[in-house]
Amino acid sequence: MRSDTRLTIFTAAAGVALLALGFVWLVLGGGAATSPGVAVALAAGLAVITAFITASALAARYRNRAQAIVDIGRRYALGDLSRPGPDYGDDDLGMAARALDAAVHEQERRIVSLARDRARMQAILGSMVEGVLVVDESGRLQLVNEAARRMLRIESDAAGRPYVEALRHPGVVEHVGRLLTGGPPQTLEFSTSRDASRELVARLAPVAGTGRGVVVVLHDVTDLKRADQIRRDFVANVSHELRTPLTAIRGYAEALVDDSEDPEARRRFLEIIQRHATRMERLVKDLLRLAMLDAGKEMLETAPADIGALVQGIVDDMATAAAAKHLRVATSAGPGTKGLAVDAAKVHDIVRNLVENAINYTQPGGDVAIAATAEGDVLVITVTDNGPGIPPEDLGRVFERFYRVDKSRGRPGGTGLGLAIVKHLADLHGGSVTVENRALGGAAFTVRLPVAPRAPLT
Ligand code: ADP
Repeated sequence: MRSDTRLTIFTAAAGVALLALGFVWLVLGGGAATSPGVAVALAAGLAVITAFITASALAARYRNRAQAIVDIGRRYALGDLSRPGPDYGDDDLGMAARALDAAVHEQERRIVSLARDRARMQAILGSMVEGVLVVDESGRLQLVNEAARRMLRIESDAAGRPYVEALRHPGVVEHVGRLLTGGPPQTLEFSTSRDASRELVARLAPVAGTGRGVVVVLHDVTDLKRADQIRRDFVANVSHELRTPLTAIRGYAEALVDDSEDPEARRRFLEIIQRHATRMERLVKDLLRLAMLDAGKEMLETAPADIGALVQGIVDDMATAAAAKHLRVATSAGPGTKGLAVDAAKVHDIVRNLVENAINYTQPGGDVAIAATAEGDVLVITVTDNGPGIPPEDLGRVFERFYRVDKSRGRPGGTGLGLAIVKHLADLHGGSVTVENRALGGAAFTVRLPVAPRAPLT
């Protein structure tokens, strides 16, 4: 039995007991001195007073507990649910308070979980590359992520504003309007007036599930389109570069078939065919090399190498070509360039390409110099010449595939892929290749390759 109920029964029992006591007192002689009516009245009065005192004490206790519950309710209303509720007791009031307390804590748990979901959703939307914006059924901007804000240059306080005001792009506004009036999902390609170089794709659909409002997902496809254009140009360039020697080979082969009498002409035609076939072979070799590098199939295989000897070997290989143009070729290798852990085959290909270019593009009688130095854990190789140099506007493009400063200047055996391969090989080392024009004329190519720290000498 609950304590307060027990107290109530006890009070009633005490009243009845007092009444009985008065009655007994009356029957046993007290009545001699007092009339029965007075005795009953006395006993009843006593009982009423006892009941009143007990009821007042009980009511005060109830009031205090109710006040404590009200205080807790106010604290909850202010959002302070940190402290646990007190012991509410196990009577009806306690049970009601406990039920409400549990309901409040359950609600709080749901609010916390909703807030966590919301924060997670905002973090996801905020880190998305795609722009996302939601327009509600009344045409107000409900949600805009950072990417959408950047792409459409939407002001930061745009949420809650009518979409026609917030989205300044007429095409997007028109399409959102169509969807709000029940139109089907749409895709729209456009550029913004502020930055015509960027190409965007917007996909618009009704908000999934509810079917009310519109969700717009924006993709910046500029890089994709650029990559696609590069791919198309590449295919066109390859076709062109292959067609030129093929046409020559076919032409001279036909001439050979038609006019097989003159041995001198035959020899000349065959030489031309051989030259063009060699050029095609070089082109295909370079293309395959680039494809391997693109696919990440070439790995670094490092071993201690003598860079001075490596450079000298390349210069010796090309001595005939340099001598034919009366070029002076100087080499130097600084201290610390011996025993560097590099991929010698790849360093060889880098330097050979640069030296070949320097020899090819420098006028007869010019100078070419190759210098290797070790700067800390970086191997620096410069290849300079005093040829025509590279026009400033082309400096940033010579490492692109098939890019030639002047098509007519392209060397006969060149593929237009040499510097692209050099750049790939330098990148593979985690290094770089740069080009600048020398103050006194000519080009200067600088390759920087990080090398593994040298083991301490023992
Ligand atoms: P290519 O096979 O035509 O030499 P590369 O990729 O090696 O192709 O070079 C790209 C272009 O850069 C060349 O066509 C040429 O116009 C320019 N170039 C490269 N090296 C030099 C240099 N040392 N001096 C002047 N121009 C150069």
